[in-house]
Amino acid sequence: MLANYHTHTVRCKHAEGSEREYIEAAIAEGFKILGFSDHTPQPYPEGFVSRIRMDMSELPDYTETLVKLRDEYRNDITILIGYEVEYSRKYFEPLLVELKKYPLDYIIQGQHYVPEEPAGSYVGTKTGSEEKLKAYVDYTIEGMKTGLFTYLAHPDLINYIGPDDIYLRHMRRIVEAAVDLDIPLEINAYGFADKRWYPCDRFFRMAVEYKPKFIIGCDAHIPGLVCQPERIEGFTDFLTRNGIEYGDNVIKIRRL
Ligand SMILES: [Zn+2]
Ligand SMILES: [Zn+2]
Repeated sequence: MLANYHTHTVRCKHAEGSEREYIEAAIAEGFKILGFSDHTPQPYPEGFVSRIRMDMSELPDYTETLVKLRDEYRNDITILIGYEVEYSRKYFEPLLVELKKYPLDYIIQGQHYVPEEPAGSYVGTKTGSEEKLKAYVDYTIEGMKTGLFTYLAHPDLINYIGPDDIYLRHMRRIVEAAVDLDIPLEINAYGFADKRWYPCDRFFRMAVEYKPKFIIGCDAHIPGLVCQPERIEGFTDFLTRNGIEYGDNVIKIRRL
């Protein structure tokens, strides 16, 4: 694996380590491309501070820091500047206007909230509600259709604990959209390493049948997670048993 496009920084309030440590880890692991995609800030109403993302005022520092490092390391590795962005009807368009004021290569879609923080709810909370499952799928696809995302991070983030037939009936629509729109689906290494509910077999077993593009995302919140898949115990078994082949993990980014 030569590339990882899913890397966080301390600004999101739940990651550790300096940008330099992430870059050094990537070089040590043999990566040629490292994309930073920290949780995007959102232009929230006055007074609301998200606990899981940087503030809008941190955009200059985030990008300036990465531009400097990109130049410093240019002979060793390609550094890309991106964000993990929530699609939301409320904030997506005004947010892009702000993000584009600074150096920006790409965005990936990470749909943690439906509809959006703070009004919406976190999709990782266990639910047996088909309505919530459907809302997640609909909102995610609406975001994919903007055509602006380089890939869809942890497509199976929704923590639906109900029956497989209901789960698959809805979730397969994300896979169909990924094929139609040519958007790679991420297999999230952080979720696997952290023994979370994603990536899950029931999603990927179904997904492979449609032959979408897959991408492995380290989703590194610590520098040590910028690593080859075989360094995460059981991860390559997960890929193999679901029929997922991986290569250099390099994809074409959608430039913004
Ligand atoms: Zn995070
Ligand atoms: Zn992430």
